[in-house]
Amino acid sequence: MHIIQQLLFILVLGVAAFLLFKRIQFIKKGIKLGKPLDRTDNSSARWRSMLLVAFGQKKMFKNPLPALLHLFVYVGFVVINIEVFEFIIDGVAGTHRIFAPFLGSFYTVLLSFFEFLSVSVFVACAIFLIRRNIIRVPRFHKPEMKTWPTLDANLILIFEILLTSAILLMNASDQALQAKGAEHYTHTGKLFFSSFLVPLFQNSQVSTLIVLERFFWWFHILGILGFAVYVTYSKHLHIFMAFPNTYFANLNPMGEMANMDSVTNEVKLMLGLPLEGDASAPPAEVGRFGAKDVNDLTWKSLMDSFTCTECGRCTAECPANQTGKKLSPRAIMMATRDRVEDVLKGEKGLEDGKSLLGDYISKEEINACTSCNACVEACPVLIDPLSIILELRRYISMEESGSPAAWNAMFQNIETNFAPWKFAPTDRFNWAEDLKKI
Ligand code: SF4
Ligand code: SF4
Repeated sequence: MHIIQQLLFILVLGVAAFLLFKRIQFIKKGIKLGKPLDRTDNSSARWRSMLLVAFGQKKMFKNPLPALLHLFVYVGFVVINIEVFEFIIDGVAGTHRIFAPFLGSFYTVLLSFFEFLSVSVFVACAIFLIRRNIIRVPRFHKPEMKTWPTLDANLILIFEILLTSAILLMNASDQALQAKGAEHYTHTGKLFFSSFLVPLFQNSQVSTLIVLERFFWWFHILGILGFAVYVTYSKHLHIFMAFPNTYFANLNPMGEMANMDSVTNEVKLMLGLPLEGDASAPPAEVGRFGAKDVNDLTWKSLMDSFTCTECGRCTAECPANQTGKKLSPRAIMMATRDRVEDVLKGEKGLEDGKSLLGDYISKEEINACTSCNACVEACPVLIDPLSIILELRRYISMEESGSPAAWNAMFQNIETNFAPWKFAPTDRFNWAEDLKKI
């Protein structure tokens, strides 16, 4: 019986590792569709940003209560997974609680602490479900949050509740078996939370208890392995992606736009200003102005799209969204990720006759952006929806001349008069000439 369980476990572990590997390769390929961008400078600032924002969850604490609950789920997820090491060793080697004899009473303390985290995760997830489905926090119910995104969020919360329940029930049935002196059930001491559940199992036969304990053990480990694979298809990928994403975040001031050198030099030539870099060098070849599809964006923008947690903090802060415009920065990130996935899954790749701009994101959305950076400021994992919007808008303006008529008139004025008005800046005070006559 033990050997069958061992072989089954090794098989399940192998399948989960294979699926995980395939999915990681898929995501890597998706991010590599983007254009190159050097984000290797200032490594100390980057490590600091990662430690504070991803590990320390600094930006979450603008709203303390949800931040605290999120912290419990996050710490619970990370720390409880230490216990999974023991599960894996036990599963492969056919042992049971292999660390217990080595750690002695510290094992009891450690497991009680894991149980405390399990209970915290249980409570936090229950509150999150209530906030989403009963209190109905508005940012969770915007148009882009229909069907799968809502189901995904609820599924993962229910999943975590079930997993934490399984840990407590497994430990309780285990303690009942220990009390009955069952073979192989190493003494763990009284575990703080699950010991309250032991009376549920006290009157059962040893054979029934073994079936129950094994059921909860398998449920938990299959749940964890299933969760690890599922996460890579879900918005919960941010659990892992938040780390590289915050490391490679933009360190420049938020309002600084990424100008195109070729265009900047053209403007400087026009204004008679010194050029950037080597003025005698031939002008660099310009590919496309702005972005039409995902391969025109940088790899960092595509990494952003895989990191998005769909929390909607950006959309809640967006002035365009607040005033009823179609734009939602969260929807921009979701559409970018959808496009990358469709390109990778489709037989024709980027040549499928579709593009990010037009088929996934409309001009109406892009033109509604005020470039205020509120979405960038609000994002807890340093995602920059504005850089995608600006690139798409650059394409609309410079490749298609498709900006609204009022903008085109302003662009024309800047080109001919060096000012947004119909007259040159030197004529601006002509109106005051008549005052001299008074
Ligand atoms: S930069 Fe654009 S998308 Fe972001 S919050 Fe401001 S208006 Fe909304
Ligand atoms: S871009 Fe950031 S703030 Fe907006 S939904 Fe995604 S994770 Fe949340």
